[in-house]
Amino acid sequence: MYNCVICRYHEIATKGNNRNMFEKCLVENIRRQLKRAEVECKVLRVRGRVWLEPEDGGVFADDTLEKIIRILPGVFGLQSFSPAMLLPVDLEQIKECVSRVLPGKMQDFIRLKGKPSFRVRARRSNKRFPLTSKEIEIELVTLAGDMLGNDAFTIDLDAADITLGCEIRDEFSLLYFDIYEGAGGLPVGSNPRVMTLLSGGIDSPVAAYLIMKRGSPTDFITFHSSPYTPQETVDKVRNIAVKLNSFQRNGRLFAVNLAPLQRAVRDFCNERMRTVLYRRAMLRIAGMLAKKCDCRALVTGDALGQVASQTVVNMDTINRASELLVLRPLVGADKLETIRIAEKIGTMELSKEQVPDSCTVFAPANPSTAVPAELAELEEAKIADYGDLLEKIVEEAVIEA
Ligand code: ATP
Ligand code: MG
Repeated sequence: MYNCVICRYHEIATKGNNRNMFEKCLVENIRRQLKRAEVECKVLRVRGRVWLEPEDGGVFADDTLEKIIRILPGVFGLQSFSPAMLLPVDLEQIKECVSRVLPGKMQDFIRLKGKPSFRVRARRSNKRFPLTSKEIEIELVTLAGDMLGNDAFTIDLDAADITLGCEIRDEFSLLYFDIYEGAGGLPVGSNPRVMTLLSGGIDSPVAAYLIMKRGSPTDFITFHSSPYTPQETVDKVRNIAVKLNSFQRNGRLFAVNLAPLQRAVRDFCNERMRTVLYRRAMLRIAGMLAKKCDCRALVTGDALGQVASQTVVNMDTINRASELLVLRPLVGADKLETIRIAEKIGTMELSKEQVPDSCTVFAPANPSTAVPAELAELEEAKIADYGDLLEKIVEEAVIEA
């Protein structure tokens, strides 16, 4: 019965002069995601409205609609969407449509669960329409009662089992039942590309997701320590990157062997500062690759105070190694909040797999929680060929996906 899926957005609508760019980006992203899933349908944008229609006109097939309902929550920028009946701005046609579809909807509910509660929610942005929102609601509830008998349902204005939505806009009107939640945020591609430091942990995949959600596509870089870490360390991250790529046009994953740097740090530097020195090297290497890939910032999953390398002092000391802006979307997040997002986006089950991590190679038993930046620099100066070492590591980076 549905001949359209209406897409609603919130933040894009506040964009003034740039709104056009954001909407175009949103439409492209919806088209791409549908194409990936081999769903054929039209994505239309007219005067600040975005909706989907079946390729051949007519109504959506059930399986197409099911796929659309699965795909759209992964498209950033959408606040919500509804399968809907697109109609002219005409009360008689609206009522005719209600009398066609409402009995079936009610009967489905009665068969499964019993007598439903019901309400109509109308919105009228078209002020030339003769009825107010309240009057439309009364008109349609009365129609339902006349058709089905007033005993067929109860009225619940707050939380009804069946809500009939009715929107009267300037060029068309809409009837719908269900409102599905979108991912929110901004269309990915509406902000410049970034580079996420992706470990096999829980945090960094969520950080990448949140940054994509704010509009930036991301490439990925992961550090391993072959031969001290196994191939599985990289395989795990590749699986996570593939999962994250389902939210964007595919980003690349660079796998970088940090072991040569770690050996030098082990041989020449203060043991308690190792993790901070690894992290500074990671940011430098990521920055070098980011520049080659035209990425404008780095992203990490750091959360303030989570581990020794994430105290304010150590974060500051690590941060100073980066010429690029470092975005840390989880800096204020609790681990449980992060886990909840990881579960929602499907990275949690991949992150749970236990494989050795690059950072634990030669890790000190008692790491310093406050390494001043000047001391870190002095330690790094003890590695004679530090700059060359980093360049060689970057040259040997492998594109994994
Ligand atoms: P996560 O934070 O992803 O759960 P983790 O807890 O093992 O993994 P931390 O020690 O918290 O990692 O590291 C903080 C951040 O540093 C990570 O979120 C990630 O952005 C980056 N990072 C750490 N290890 C690596 C690695 N091996 N490769 C790429 N980035 C890494
Ligand atoms: Mg972490």
